[in-house]
Amino acid sequence: LIEARGISKHFGDLHVLDNIDFALSPSEVVCVIGPSGSGKSTLLRCLAFLEPYDDGNVYIHGQLLGYEQRGGMRIRASEKAIDRVRAPLGMVFQHFHLWPHRTALQNVTEALRLVQGLSRREADREGMAMLKRVGLFDRAHHYPASLSGGQKQRVAIARALAMKPEVMLFDEPTSALDPELVGEVLAVMKQLASDGMTMAIVTHEMGFAANVADRVVFMDEGRIVESGKPETLFRRPASERLSQFLNTWR
Ligand code: ATP
Ligand code: MG
Repeated sequence: LIEARGISKHFGDLHVLDNIDFALSPSEVVCVIGPSGSGKSTLLRCLAFLEPYDDGNVYIHGQLLGYEQRGGMRIRASEKAIDRVRAPLGMVFQHFHLWPHRTALQNVTEALRLVQGLSRREADREGMAMLKRVGLFDRAHHYPASLSGGQKQRVAIARALAMKPEVMLFDEPTSALDPELVGEVLAVMKQLASDGMTMAIVTHEMGFAANVADRVVFMDEGRIVESGKPETLFRRPASERLSQFLNTWR
């Protein structure tokens, strides 16, 4: 569904992604772990072309994302072409970026109305269904200020789901939350996984990764150091770097 081959990314002299291969098959759940600054967010952003990669290729359903070949040259694709290729992706970030002056429901239905052109009634029906899916049916008419962090993050998930993504990319969705609110968000993500959603999740929640991921990818210094089944990676890390990293989280 998504395939990244040999992607690299520099910020000035800093080599943030170094020849990364990363693929996601339908219904696969992959957790990406690694120390701060290892390039996890940059990888996710490059997979969605929120950040252009410099080298290599990202394909979504076999279509090159972000660039096109013209006369042997690689040039940046139009925004329209980029949006078309990445349409199957939904994203959820650490900070929820909800509109403060719109209710939970209005936050979820905004894109349904503006991008997909649904009528208010259709958008509201769809929006309520998505809020129900994240357990917030009864909070639809609340403004973000009167929602907890966990509820706001679940609204952000509902908003992404409303666009009917085939893949959900999560960048540390629970890192900004008070500890007692983490569980409700992880529970929604776990439910999505068991519904068969394809997901890539950057997380520090090792218990969640161990329970829910089909595969765990460990990044360090812009490279994928290890990748495999969670039981293998967590119980028998092959590299010193992963053992050290896991020790700091125990
Ligand atoms: P964290 O766990 O702290 O979120 P991360 O693994 O997500 O870390 P990235 O955010 O991908 O790491 O950053 C990787 C490296 O790239 C870091 O050294 C960071 O400072 C640098 N970096 C990220 N974004 C930019 C940017 N827009 N401009 C310059 N450098 C950047
Ligand atoms: Mg990050």
